[in-house]
Amino acid sequence: MYFRLNPECYFIKGMKQGAIFDMIDCKIYALSPKETEILTSCEKNKIIDKEDDFLKELRSRTLGTFYQNKQYIQKLRFGSFIEKELNTPPEFYRAFLQINDKCDKNCWFCGYNGLKRSLGCLGCNKWENKDKPLDLKKWKEIIEELYDLGCNEIFFNGGDLSINWDETMEILEYSQGKFINTYITLHQHNLSEKIIKDLKNKTNLIIQTEDYNDIKFDNFLYLYVTKPEFLINKENIKENVMIDFIIEDKIDLDNLAKYKKDFPQFNLQSFLNNIEYHPCLGHTLTICSNGDVLSCPMMRDSNLGNLKNKTLSNIFREKFDEINKIWKLNLDNIEKCTCCEFRYICQDCRALEKKLTGRLDGKLLCNCRKEKGEV
Ligand code: SF4
Ligand code: SF4
Ligand code: SF4
Repeated sequence: MYFRLNPECYFIKGMKQGAIFDMIDCKIYALSPKETEILTSCEKNKIIDKEDDFLKELRSRTLGTFYQNKQYIQKLRFGSFIEKELNTPPEFYRAFLQINDKCDKNCWFCGYNGLKRSLGCLGCNKWENKDKPLDLKKWKEIIEELYDLGCNEIFFNGGDLSINWDETMEILEYSQGKFINTYITLHQHNLSEKIIKDLKNKTNLIIQTEDYNDIKFDNFLYLYVTKPEFLINKENIKENVMIDFIIEDKIDLDNLAKYKKDFPQFNLQSFLNNIEYHPCLGHTLTICSNGDVLSCPMMRDSNLGNLKNKTLSNIFREKFDEINKIWKLNLDNIEKCTCCEFRYICQDCRALEKKLTGRLDGKLLCNCRKEKGEV
């Protein structure tokens, strides 16, 4: 007798333990070392004991089934098998457009004061920049090219985008209807009733705040900037609130783990993506206010070129290997994550980890000790 998991159930092994990821119910089943061993044999088509309680439990949960003969089970996936073999254009889906670098405030956690943010890409940051900024005409050309390249998600941020609000609105209006999702980030203090009215039905607003009491509306997204030790009980955090942890040099990992939200929700698309690409760096580029193209808004040293005298297509042609190297830095390539069964559903801020460890593949912000074989 044989036992195999169903096509929708992916079995991922860590160093000692494994987990089953059910792509229909989007559920995780964490396994003990013994269960991992049994399931490893099953997935290798080895003969099993049909009275095994664990396998009967998997069967009763409709995660897999018994077979009389050896089976080949094709896992659920998207697209064609030959698609990847062809010379297809770059899968470039997400862009951060940093329309300006200016802001009159000086928040202590701003990128300007050194990288400390775990989700700084969704917030606003000002940067030291003496170059001439791109003009409105150039931003419109960039938006056209993003559209032509198949980009479908755009994050507009600054600086303070309320400073030259008419230009910000012109860029936003020019983007309308071209992308599946657009977002704009503004600090709570830079919002006005006029801005909220102007943005209505045009884009998704992300409001950055350091004060949890500012979070009053359910129809906006909030980026709540906080140190882990100041976070209120994580069970009370509303669905529309993302947490941007500020990590200073001294880190209490147990404290951080206590306050981090659990693993993010996953689906087949995100799971398959993370098998091949980094969860946030993959398929993503950033265009700075002076035209510089970066891998990530917070990785300021990842400069791939400048758009003042070039197009994005030129940059892809010239730097594709460099871009792909960052895009494909999935968690298989990150120390300690490579031994962890949750590596295709976990979040990772490479910019912050690189700052903390000094290495592009370093990992500090996790208190698992999978690499030491601990369960
Ligand atoms: S409001 Fe945003 S851009 Fe301005 S200083 Fe604060 S974090 Fe930086
Ligand atoms: S960060 Fe921690 S939990 Fe996430 S994949 Fe890496 S080792 Fe696993
Ligand atoms: S590494 Fe990812 S999460 Fe971190 S700042 Fe860059 S895009 Fe954002």
